Amino acid sequence: MSFESCIVKLTSYCNLNCTYCYMFNLEDNSYEENHKNMPEETASMLLQRLAEYIEQEGLTQFDITLHGGEPTLWPLKRFESFFHNIKNNPILYKAITLGLQSNLYKLPSTQLLDLLLENNVSLSLSLDGPKKVNDIFRVTPSGKGSYESISHNLSFILDSKYCSLVKGILSVPQTDTTPQDYFQWVKSLPIKNVDVLFPIHYHYGYKPWDNIGKSEQEYACSPNLGIWYAQLFDCWWFHNDPSINIRLFNHVISLMLGSHHHVDALVNDTLNMFVVSSSGNIEYPDYYRVAKNRNAETPYNIVDHSIKRLHSDSGFQNLLNLHRFTPKECNSCDHQTLCGGGFLAGRNGPDGMVLNRRSVLCYDEMYLFQHIKKRVLPTLEVTPNRTA
Ligand code: SF4
Repeated sequence: MSFESCIVKLTSYCNLNCTYCYMFNLEDNSYEENHKNMPEETASMLLQRLAEYIEQEGLTQFDITLHGGEPTLWPLKRFESFFHNIKNNPILYKAITLGLQSNLYKLPSTQLLDLLLENNVSLSLSLDGPKKVNDIFRVTPSGKGSYESISHNLSFILDSKYCSLVKGILSVPQTDTTPQDYFQWVKSLPIKNVDVLFPIHYHYGYKPWDNIGKSEQEYACSPNLGIWYAQLFDCWWFHNDPSINIRLFNHVISLMLGSHHHVDALVNDTLNMFVVSSSGNIEYPDYYRVAKNRNAETPYNIVDHSIKRLHSDSGFQNLLNLHRFTPKECNSCDHQTLCGGGFLAGRNGPDGMVLNRRSVLCYDEMYLFQHIKKRVLPTLEVTPNRTA
């Protein structure tokens, strides 16, 4: 089992201050000690380490997501050098795929957009729904909503020679809006490729049923988030327009049909990725930093340690072999192969990450999976061939 992707934090600052941001506004404050911008030498060392690892492991593909903070704030000269180093290393050039996750609050310079285009970098951006809801959560440091600026910048890019850069929108739907209104918003977007994420801020210290006047038993019978996602599924399913891709739903359906591909909250049999901070520290996935300060830290950094060295770290070994930690409650669950214990962020708590306890989003995920199964499976029934 090898690592196949990493998230690289090019910056440890941002021009937005989203209320639920796990980098700056939840429990972890390690960003305070990191470099604001990843130094050029650290980025260069990371690429050397990756080339060495890709060759050792015989990998044909390795995915890098450029992340932050806000990665487009990284100095242009460093982007030039980073892409130059990839182009000039045949191992990297052949294997690396690049994505950049931006809030798109500020339009990147045309020089940066040109670089992204030349280097086949796909661009994803974040919006959480219609303006009135998005602007409660995705705000500037002074509290101003971000929606108008992001929409304007997205339209500019889509109407320009850079349109092929845009891969899709990542969205943490806020249940302050109805699923029907949210879906109307999806239909109105200029790009209809939306990845609906499960919220990352629920864990054993802050459960979905806390503060809403429901006991755990009541929530298990009527899980608010699961119901919201299921209603959104119905809007999408009955609208029946294949040009609208809500990635979570398409993934659940393909998993029900036999795929085994792990994405975000699904399958959870292996997590073969690591994070590199702007100071070059190697960290566990961001799910770890949600509930406990410095919980994503490891003793490794990209200057002193090879990536192969991570294989002997017990934390990474556990993530690479996540299937060994399937919670015992899941053994009798109909959705075990689809879910594998649930969204990893929800297995966290003030006591740290406990891989073999099921996610606090279990009730919501179970409700959604059950609902999708009920909708989809009857459509797959084969009509007997009467002429045979
Ligand atoms: S839905 Fe719940 S019980 Fe079923 S596999 Fe997921 S976490 Fe486990």
